[in-house]
Amino acid sequence: MRYLWPLPATMIGFIFAMMARASGATIRAADGVVEVGGGGVGRAIALLPRALQFNAITFGHVVIGVSHGVLAQCRRHERVHVRQYERWGVLFFLLYVASSVWALLRGRHPYWHNHFERQAYREERRA
Ligand SMILES: [Zn+2]
Repeated sequence: MRYLWPLPATMIGFIFAMMARASGATIRAADGVVEVGGGGVGRAIALLPRALQFNAITFGHVVIGVSHGVLAQCRRHERVHVRQYERWGVLFFLLYVASSVWALLRGRHPYWHNHFERQAYREERRA
């Protein structure tokens, strides 16, 4: 169940992983999670609007990052997101966006005041 419920998100992660792999990224497994880093990942992220850029992103059990060094640095944080996917499954995408919209509506920051990011930052400090 832990892997089944977030499987649609993991599949989307695999599609991005394949694209990253084609751009020279390498794929490693770390405690039940697939980490994809390097290659053209950083260049692809740089094409996004500045407010949407990131160092690493989690899709179910796939984490994609600018490099494997960055992935190691943010492993605790991204593992909290993996657990959030395990808990909420496919609903996580929707809930995450809803939380950002809710923050915006209250005049807060869509990332720093997102419920799931706050939880991730809280728990990565505790881990
Ligand atoms: Zn996060």
